[in-house]
Amino acid sequence: MSTIQALRGTKDILPTDIGYWQHLEATAQQILGQAAFREIRTPMFEQTDLFARGIGEATDVVGKEMYTFSDRGDRSITLRPEGTAGAVRSFIENKLYGTGGIQRLWYSGPMFRYERPQAGRQRQFHQIGAEVFGSADPRADVEAIAVAVNLLSALGLKSLKLALNSVGDREDRQRYREKLVAYLTPYKDELDPDSKDRLTRNPLRILDTKVERTQEICVDAPSIVDALSPDSAERFERVQQGLAALGIDYTLDNRLVRGLDYYTHTAFEIQSDDLGAQATVCGGGRYDGLVSELGGPETSAVGWAMGMERLILLLQEIQPLSEPSVDFYVVSRGNQAEIQALSVAQILRQAGYSVEVDLSGSAFGKQFKRGDRAGAKACAILGDAEADNNTVQIKWLKSGEQTEISQSNLLETAKSFDGNKFKS
Ligand code: ATP
Ligand code: MG
Repeated sequence: MSTIQALRGTKDILPTDIGYWQHLEATAQQILGQAAFREIRTPMFEQTDLFARGIGEATDVVGKEMYTFSDRGDRSITLRPEGTAGAVRSFIENKLYGTGGIQRLWYSGPMFRYERPQAGRQRQFHQIGAEVFGSADPRADVEAIAVAVNLLSALGLKSLKLALNSVGDREDRQRYREKLVAYLTPYKDELDPDSKDRLTRNPLRILDTKVERTQEICVDAPSIVDALSPDSAERFERVQQGLAALGIDYTLDNRLVRGLDYYTHTAFEIQSDDLGAQATVCGGGRYDGLVSELGGPETSAVGWAMGMERLILLLQEIQPLSEPSVDFYVVSRGNQAEIQALSVAQILRQAGYSVEVDLSGSAFGKQFKRGDRAGAKACAILGDAEADNNTVQIKWLKSGEQTEISQSNLLETAKSFDGNKFKS
């Protein structure tokens, strides 16, 4: 019989790697918590409409990448391809705006996109994201970017570049769209097929092309920044002043447009030189129109999402995981001793230690070897004599020092074990 394998573009996260994930999640919780963001967990699937309306029909995500299916009740359901639409739906449905003022949220979890799998690109992947609802102030953009930068530096990631642009408001973009289409139309036949298609559907996205000839054509395209209204330009200036005040380096990139339709004003990406083609670890921006588009009250918003797989690829390069180890390894021989070994382990855990019980039933020598390999600081030993006397031998592996302790005193005694003995 053939064995069943994980689906293409999905990956198991094995115990050997889980330490990176836990470190990443714990750091995110700490850094975002410090900046007054609160975690939200929304469902992994939603009505297809939410994404169609919230992300935009003309985007790659909605047009080509969604996992959409009918459930048994004939509803069109989609596995979430990103986190913002669900966060916005929840914000509206739970009237989180009702608490007044500003709502800062963050999330992490799996996302699903039907893409061609490669390093740093999967069909089930994970994002950490943050959203600030309720402020149109450019300082909210600066704070959102700053917390992303803080997270990346708390993770020890270096040689990251922040690219910044403004895509203006709807009117700015409409104006710019016309200028861009006028510029590109004479080159129509030289554009790659995707870009040609976008010329009518989503021309701004052409600027984001990875096709070389199209890129060359775009070099002399009009810049969106030149099409900004005085208000939008002033806003963009304030964002830059804020970043400069925080000492956050950035480069302006007037071809940075991001994939999703709902972006207004600030758009940004954080890229790494160490990831090959999948260079973007974080993408975000302002999306003032989305909450009202999805039926909520007019609400300004700014946010970002980071690809966790890409962050972990970078983490793996800078810090090898330390092998997990236990404090105590319990070895035992003989019927009675083997049963008592279980309760000795429980007592040691109760005293706050990590404990692994050898279940092999093999000779003491082999059990000791396994204890060594488990990185144990000490072995708890039970043979027939210990079982008869209700005692246990504690042997500290580094010094070889050994003491016999009565099982009934073990909890009290273990609580006061010398901390130095646990330092390797
Ligand atoms: P890309 O241009 O790489 O496809 P995107 O613009 O589609 O990225 P966003 O929707 O902005 O990406 O998502 C934010 C981040 O999530 C990306 O910068 C990336 O780090 C990560 N990401 C997006 N798609 C995937 C995927 N299929 N596999 C792994 N990570 C992903
Ligand atoms: Mg993509």
